[in-house]
Amino acid sequence: MINDSVNIKAQTEVFDVVIVGSGAGGGMAAYTLSKAGVKVCVLEAGQNFDPADPKNITQLKWPYESPRRGASTTRPFGDFDAAYGGWDIEGQPYTRKNGTSFDWFRSQMVGGRTNHWGRISLRFGPDDFKRKSIDGLGDDWPIGYEDMKPYYDRVEKLIGVFGTNEGLRNDPDGQFLPPPKPRLHELMIMKANKKIGIPTYPSRMAMLTKKINDERGKCFYCGQCGRACMAYADFSASSVLIKPAVATGNTTLITHAMAREVITDPITGLATGVSYVNTLNLQEYTVKGKVVVLAASAGETARLLLNSKSSRFSNGLANSSGVVGKYLNDSTGASRSGIIPALFDRKRYNEDGVGGMHIYTPWWLDNKKLDFPRGYHIEYGGGMGMPGYGYGWGIESMNGKPEFTKDGKAKAAGGYGSSLKEDYARYYGAYIGMAGRGEPVVREDNYCEIDPNTVDKYGIPVLRFHYKWSDYEIKQAKHMQDTFEEIIHAMGGIPMGKKPGPENNYGLAEPGKIIHEVGTARMGNDPKTSVLNSNCQAHDVKNLFVADAAPFVSQGDKNATLTILALSLRTSEYILDQRKKGNI
Ligand SMILES: Cc1cc2nc3c(=O)[nH]c(=O)nc-3n(C[C@H](O)[C@H](O)[C@H](O)COP(=O)(O)OP(=O)(O)OC[C@H]3O[C@@H](n4cnc5c(N)ncnc54)[C@H](O)[C@@H]3O)c2cc1C
Ligand code: SF4
Repeated sequence: MINDSVNIKAQTEVFDVVIVGSGAGGGMAAYTLSKAGVKVCVLEAGQNFDPADPKNITQLKWPYESPRRGASTTRPFGDFDAAYGGWDIEGQPYTRKNGTSFDWFRSQMVGGRTNHWGRISLRFGPDDFKRKSIDGLGDDWPIGYEDMKPYYDRVEKLIGVFGTNEGLRNDPDGQFLPPPKPRLHELMIMKANKKIGIPTYPSRMAMLTKKINDERGKCFYCGQCGRACMAYADFSASSVLIKPAVATGNTTLITHAMAREVITDPITGLATGVSYVNTLNLQEYTVKGKVVVLAASAGETARLLLNSKSSRFSNGLANSSGVVGKYLNDSTGASRSGIIPALFDRKRYNEDGVGGMHIYTPWWLDNKKLDFPRGYHIEYGGGMGMPGYGYGWGIESMNGKPEFTKDGKAKAAGGYGSSLKEDYARYYGAYIGMAGRGEPVVREDNYCEIDPNTVDKYGIPVLRFHYKWSDYEIKQAKHMQDTFEEIIHAMGGIPMGKKPGPENNYGLAEPGKIIHEVGTARMGNDPKTSVLNSNCQAHDVKNLFVADAAPFVSQGDKNATLTILALSLRTSEYILDQRKKGNI
């Protein structure tokens, strides 16, 4: 049942489980629990979203069908992108402390950020769970790869992930669909990388290169997954998890429901439900549940816990350790692009592919031999997809350069008419880009807390971030930049722009910009140093669970979402088990 929330006045029903958030973590929890017959209520701050609903479709539209040719008006990645939100949402601020920086990305819609994520789906490997044991830095997870493996297997089969089994130790094999073939620029990257000893493999991403059931179509290679797929061929929590959860009849989805806090019984200390503000009529409601699962994203889950203060939990809920909000970490990121003269004046043909890269490089070096302790993987871009709308192309920075012209003579940058057309024909498809996504060393001093002086437009106290990169991450970014140049040169290419240097931390993205924030309610065996036990159950409140990236102890040199999904599945099955045993 989907309830657009305005007519809910006072909830009398006591749900078996109330879940806050319908993204990767909340979607998987709702799917797993409702398929098992449990009565679930999902509170979602945003509106409903179905990529096949004609009013939402932006896929296959031409740039000229948007008022600003698709360039960004309100959405950070352009008006065709399926993100209803961004780093800044009107009336929902967050603040930063002591001159530090953190940018917090939120998508408020059913499915959350999974409607437009990159869909790069990488398992954490054995080392990613045990970093402290390896080099003494950070902390170990209370679980290891072997605990997660069965859940990764099942998630990959359920959502559909393509890739290849390469037998890599810390980038484990999986249950993969066939990968799409590398395209010309990717073949050239592979050839260059082979020359300089950098491994390159088919990427691992959540698009259906083969049909897996009757509910979802097969990818038809339009290259536009960021707009959300009307054939449901890319994985989004909205279409692959929430929709079937609602179809069971066991999930009540309440949209426009901005959770304010978890309500607890003052005597038992157990969670009894969640209060929320209806974002349409600004009224306050409560929904009751025997179990509460927070999955509103790592940042928002910390905010909810810290805002859930009571006489019994004066420091915020599940926060007897004082650890809620601490150990926040985002992936490191740096990027570089290059132009490849061998690709000038390319023959035109359709090579769109999936919406993203067909190849990638997992971390390939030994940190013991380097001056930074954690690795990164490389994501590649390029090819002849639909020209970027409003950003990312920049022909004027190419056609003014003598080394790029046919006769070696400088031509004025910019231009119009037939001269500009010639330039496009020459340069289009000759661009490549690469981005490193790496692991930071987790620090207690990187945190979010409640800002005592600021509330959002719903009257809910907001988060205040405190985050700094350390030398480890800066040195890692330097290594990324050196590697990117080496690859571009090995391709006979010319790096674009000035190489980032120490003056800007080697192009290291500001914290939060890579949108992989994790760790704000970390799991552990010791209730004094962690918020959750190894089943993502709060040490302090046995019927309270977390199913997003807040339980992560560290980031891994991988993107987080496949692990959020696998962890949420594991947590949900633990809830089912505990219910059966009468423990919760
Ligand atoms: C452009 C982009 C590219 C990305 N690419 C990748 C990638 O390639 N690979 C990868 O692994 N990850 C990627 N990510 C990150 C990925 O999207 C997130 O890791 C993942 O979506 C997190 O899942 P979640 O369930 O924790 O949170 P979300 O998906 O953000 O879902 C949280 C949900 O909770 C709702 N909510 C928030 N607050 C409240 C509240 N108070 N009350 C009720 N509901 C609330 C939100 O509206 C939202 O629907 C990318 C993200 C972006 C934006
Ligand atoms: S590339 Fe494939 S999965 Fe992505 S939007 Fe296009 S058809 Fe759908």
